[in-house]
Amino acid sequence: MKILVINCGSSSLKYQLFDMEKEQVLAKGLVERIGIEGSRIKHSKTGMDAVTTETPIPNHRVGIKLVLDALLDKSHGVLSSLEELAAVGHRVVHAGEKFATSVKLEPKVLAALKECIPLAPLHNPANIMGIDAVSEVLPRVPQVGVFDTAFHQTMPRSAFIYAVPYGYYEKYGVRRYGFHGTSHYYVSHRAAEMLGRPIEKLKIVTCHLGNGSSITAVDGGRSIDTSMGFTPLAGVVMGTRCGDIDPALVSFLAETEKLSMKELDDLLNKKSGMLGISGISSDLRDIEEAAGRGEARSKLALQVLTCGIKKYIGAYAAEMGGLDAVVFTAGVGENSVQVRAMACEGLEFLGIEIDNARNSVRSKEAVISTDASKVRVLVIPTNEELVIARDTRRLVSEN
Ligand code: ADP
Repeated sequence: MKILVINCGSSSLKYQLFDMEKEQVLAKGLVERIGIEGSRIKHSKTGMDAVTTETPIPNHRVGIKLVLDALLDKSHGVLSSLEELAAVGHRVVHAGEKFATSVKLEPKVLAALKECIPLAPLHNPANIMGIDAVSEVLPRVPQVGVFDTAFHQTMPRSAFIYAVPYGYYEKYGVRRYGFHGTSHYYVSHRAAEMLGRPIEKLKIVTCHLGNGSSITAVDGGRSIDTSMGFTPLAGVVMGTRCGDIDPALVSFLAETEKLSMKELDDLLNKKSGMLGISGISSDLRDIEEAAGRGEARSKLALQVLTCGIKKYIGAYAAEMGGLDAVVFTAGVGENSVQVRAMACEGLEFLGIEIDNARNSVRSKEAVISTDASKVRVLVIPTNEELVIARDTRRLVSEN
């Protein structure tokens, strides 16, 4: 069974084609600058160099057509006919409280996702555009939605209710939702497999640290708390997002700097985080390099980030009443030896002890704690696309 996985943004579209017999990626690529000058598709068949084609891509429908053409291409394609395509799985950011699991994208589901647009005004419309484009180009192929918020729907009310007047929860759905759910689900289950223990018996803190970062408490395989909130702005310090701040800063900055809500939104989402503290870059590689040269604010940015991660690990261990494993994933979590070491430093009292030699690993699965460490610390490259492909296969095979 061949399944196409799509992650559609407002001007970009990432895709992977899976052969589900062996869960192999046959091809993947990226359509960029949709609706903008200089649009292009970069396609690579597994084992071959990527091919980039610049061509006008006015909308997502044209983008999807180009993806299908690339998949059917005689030299770098992997399908001989579109009949081979069993289903399409989409990453969808926000399902509010409507879906706690992946679902087949039927008209009533799409209507529900449209109702969630006020909760994710930037992301959901782009995801829906991708779904509509596939429906137009491949009307008979079933589609499945896999939601970033779904895994966190198991959080108890005590973890998701904000202490603002309760009516706003009832009226607007103001609450903690959490994001990166597919990644937290994947790495927590993979950690249980690697440790050879049933996930139902494990208390795990999963640290997804990329440009956007979130940390989740996974107790018995269920998310019981997570650091992102109503939006992906809350939680640990990120590349350009501020993470947790005193909300009173918003009105303070609005008044003293005479900033509009739009400007404040921009400031907290795009000019803060590691970029804001360091003044150098949002990219952790640049910050590590500058800190290595002795640049004080880059050193400080690393300290603020890792102090924040440490606080979440401690808080979630307390919330779960114990801790068996900590997982690091995504760009920073999979690659930064320094961030992992700094975040775990001083946590020996919790039973966390990193082995420096084992920690010098990048982009591959590893247990990086010492044999004596009561808590296992793992590096696990995330694979959200595989989860989407698996859920899509399961849902289209049921009947
Ligand atoms: P996104 O949230 O956009 O999916 P990623 O998970 O790809 O982001 O993470 C991107 C970040 O990972 C980059 O900004 C960079 O800071 C960090 N990163 C990638 N490779 C390395 C590396 N070798 N060392 C340290 N940080 C890295």
